[in-house]
Amino acid sequence: MKGADERFQSEANSANIMSMPAAATDALTIGNALRALPKAELHLHLEGSVNATTFAEMARHHDVELPPHSHPAELFDYSDLAGFLDVYALVAASMIDRRDFERVTYECLERCAANGARHVEMFFSPEAHIEHGVPYDTVLAGITAGVRHAEVDFGLSCLLIPAINRELGGLRAVEFVEMVLAHRTDDIVGVGLDFNEIGYPPELFVDAFRLAEQAGLRRTSHAGEVGPAQNVRDGIELLHCERVDHGYNIVQDPELLAECVASQVPFTVCPTTTTFTTDHRDLSAADHPIRVMYDAGLNMTVNSDDPTMFGAELTDEYSKLNRLMGFSFDELAQLALASLDAAWIDEPTKSSWRAEWASDIECISARLDEQ
Ligand SMILES: [Zn+2]
Repeated sequence: MKGADERFQSEANSANIMSMPAAATDALTIGNALRALPKAELHLHLEGSVNATTFAEMARHHDVELPPHSHPAELFDYSDLAGFLDVYALVAASMIDRRDFERVTYECLERCAANGARHVEMFFSPEAHIEHGVPYDTVLAGITAGVRHAEVDFGLSCLLIPAINRELGGLRAVEFVEMVLAHRTDDIVGVGLDFNEIGYPPELFVDAFRLAEQAGLRRTSHAGEVGPAQNVRDGIELLHCERVDHGYNIVQDPELLAECVASQVPFTVCPTTTTFTTDHRDLSAADHPIRVMYDAGLNMTVNSDDPTMFGAELTDEYSKLNRLMGFSFDELAQLALASLDAAWIDEPTKSSWRAEWASDIECISARLDEQ
């Protein structure tokens, strides 16, 4: 009988991504050390995490027409946000059956585990599937099955964050939260807000977020990525967001930056995404917002956002901070611990994991120092 981990042919398996060298005498590179670092992934979109070959197979199965390509990896070859959004829509259109969602979730979490993630809080975009006639309960059932299998096979935990598509407006957002609450499970930890900030400011979503808060859901919002710093402020003050996703344009508002340093509200930053969706395409620039945010003392976590679609896994994001922005291993280890602190899990669990992670980090650090 085949084990659960053999049910899907995954790219992560074939890539043979492993963590630390087994023997203490083997060389430990900074790359391996960063891969082994225990991490929480807090800003990851399921639909932006689909393997190219899985995407091509699902599209073929469901008769979704794809652009000409000689290899599935070419499907993720674009240079701007518009190209990315076109392909994102095709990926969403190719996820139809419960099993599609289960497979994609399982493969996504497999890659997370291979990158050292021990806890994941994953966005998914129900509206992108409802648009194609896939009911929310089908989406949720498939994702939940994928999470259950991955938790057993890879030893990580995963909570889910259905994300409001802001482009559908405030009234639909209220209906969306009502739908989420009607199908609520213990896996659903909160709600997010994403898609284009321009023209869809936070104040449109006050009612939806109030409803979520009253029902005990946690709240986060994409803000200040392409929209103004004011969206960061309004996300926190009007929507009562407990985290900010991206938030780079906060650097244009020193007063708000100082307030967020004081409150230590977590910002989930995604280095590779900034090179696609913002004007800050040089990660080594001294004025890159992530550098400025960190130096100001903001509470920041490192995340991958849309790893297969932007071609950078979670370890790559930590590695880019090391190679291109000069972050030391110790600084990155602190950011990994900050990701645990910013996770939406109960305090006793967090406290026990913190002790475990700190001890593992000490071992990894000692191995690096030996060289
Ligand atoms: Zn995002």
